[in-house]
Amino acid sequence: MTDKASASADDVPMAGRRCLQCGKPALYAYRPFCSKRCADLDLGKWFAEDYRVPSDEEPGDDRAEEDP
Ligand SMILES: [Zn+2]
Repeated sequence: MTDKASASADDVPMAGRRCLQCGKPALYAYRPFCSKRCADLDLGKWFAEDYRVPSDEEPGDDRAEEDP
């Protein structure tokens, strides 16, 4: 599988754009971030805020672990 053709734009830096996470030059592929890692970090932040919404249920408590 040759992936080079489709990956041409992935590594192109965006002029004047900085990664919102770490401040490095952002890439088109991950704008407005510099890498998938930074994009994931930001995404994680969003999800984390979602999960912080107060809830009556206690997550992870419905799967009772029995003794081995
Ligand atoms: Zn970054």
